[in-house]
Order: sequence, then C-alpha cells, then structure tokens
Amino acid sequence: MAVLDIRVLGDPILRERTEPLPVVTGVVQALISDMFETMRAAKGIGLAAPQIGRPERLTVIDVDGAEFVLINPEIVDRQGSDKAEEGCLSIPDVYADVERATRVVVRAIDREGKPFEVEATDLLARCMQHEIDHL
Ligand code: ZN
Repeated sequence: MAVLDIRVLGDPILRERTEPLPVVTGVVQALISDMFETMRAAKGIGLAAPQIGRPERLTVIDVDGAEFVLINPEIVDRQGSDKAEEGCLSIPDVYADVERATRVVVRAIDREGKPFEVEATDLLARCMQHEIDHL
C-alpha cells in the first residue's frame, strides 16, 4: 500500500469529467487500498479518485468505522435538507456551510464488483454527497 499525493484546488483534474469503471480489476483493488491509506493518513472521512489524480468514478469513505467503496455511484433517492460545515482534503483549511439532503439512497458497485444499494443518513449521507460531487 502507498500514501498518494492529494491534489488541491487549482489542479485541473479536479474539474475533469470522470469515467465509469467497466470492471473491478486487481489494479483497481490495489488503488482502493491506497486510497483508504491516503485518506487515513490525511485524517479524512472520504476521498474521491480525482483527488489523487485519477479519472475513475470511484470513492472511498470511512465515517466512524462505517467503510464504503462506491464505484460508479448514483444517488437514487434523497430526502430532507440541512446545512452544516464541511471541509475537503483538496481545499485545505477552508470550511464552509453546505446544504445537503439528510438521507440518501446510493446505488453503486463494491470492491468485489457486486452492485449494492445503501441508505445513509446524517454525516454519512453528507459525506457520500460530497464525494459523489467530486465525481
Ligand atoms: Zn472533498
């Protein structure tokens, strides 16, 4: 595993269009492990592929020990709305209030390549919306 460089605001990759991952290969699984390690080293709760310079629709999340790998994620349902402060590993030391749904249902593919759906609320829902925005 390796800690990767996190791209920061101003890096064009952060604004580029991402590409769906057609298949979860061993190379992708290794990338996922590196992304978890990078996120933890930076004390983040989520990290999206463009933040480490990759174009895939892929994000990793760890909110209070609830770990998720979201590949090709889609928000299929959302409810409620709440404003709270958010930070981003690509915009160091800047925090801003962002309005988000308080409950979302996300459909994605996991690290084994299996499709799944997850319902998330509160901080986990906020984190998933933030990371999916990166994609
Ligand atoms: Zn972010």
